[in-house]
Amino acid sequence: MSRQVLLFDIDGTLLSCGKVWIEAYLGAVREAFPGWDLPNVNFGGKTDYWIARTLITAKLGDVEPEELERLSGQIVDRYIAQVTAQQNDRVLKEVRVLPGVPELLERLSQEKDLSLTVLTGNIRQGAELKLAAAALTPFFDLSLGAFGCDHWERSQLPNFALDRAISRLGRQVQGCELVILGDTVHDMTCGRHLGVKTIGVGTGHPEGREALLAERPDHFFEDFSDAEAVLRAIRS
Ligand SMILES: [Mg+2]
Repeated sequence: MSRQVLLFDIDGTLLSCGKVWIEAYLGAVREAFPGWDLPNVNFGGKTDYWIARTLITAKLGDVEPEELERLSGQIVDRYIAQVTAQQNDRVLKEVRVLPGVPELLERLSQEKDLSLTVLTGNIRQGAELKLAAAALTPFFDLSLGAFGCDHWERSQLPNFALDRAISRLGRQVQGCELVILGDTVHDMTCGRHLGVKTIGVGTGHPEGREALLAERPDHFFEDFSDAEAVLRAIRS
């Protein structure tokens, strides 16, 4: 029986997906709003729909909820279509697994009481593409995961992960049995209301580091190259 559920963020934590993804996203926004000079929005730790909502609100101001949902859905659909239809070779070529990640996942997979999955702002289709490009899919039980298509607010995603753990593992799971591993401040704060354990990692965008550390994660690693140390942190 699994005692802990490990919820890995994807971008900046497991892998770096390459410029093709952000180019596809911005391309989708420009298709929806031709000629628009895009505002500078930090994508780090935000869900796919959250980014779209931020951009749309910056462009149009207050928007009716249904319209916001429609427009953000349009952007995310176009973005995924661009990546899958036109850029699959770049998706494979540009992905880079971050230091120590395959060895860590291999080591954690040997612990029979740990369940490995993801908690990510990517919609499920995007998450699956990124993990497959990096050859990391076999390590994860994605039926336990939470994705950017579950809710646009990242702080809602741990609730989905907890519900799925309860129904899939067939027992009562407490928030403190969830461990979120991620590279941004949003990873560290999103599960606070459930009392999750947090492990920060310094392999994401350097700009986000200070904010992440200010949230005092339970543990922090520069990267995941010391698998035994990360396992001890998970168990502590
Ligand atoms: Mg990240």
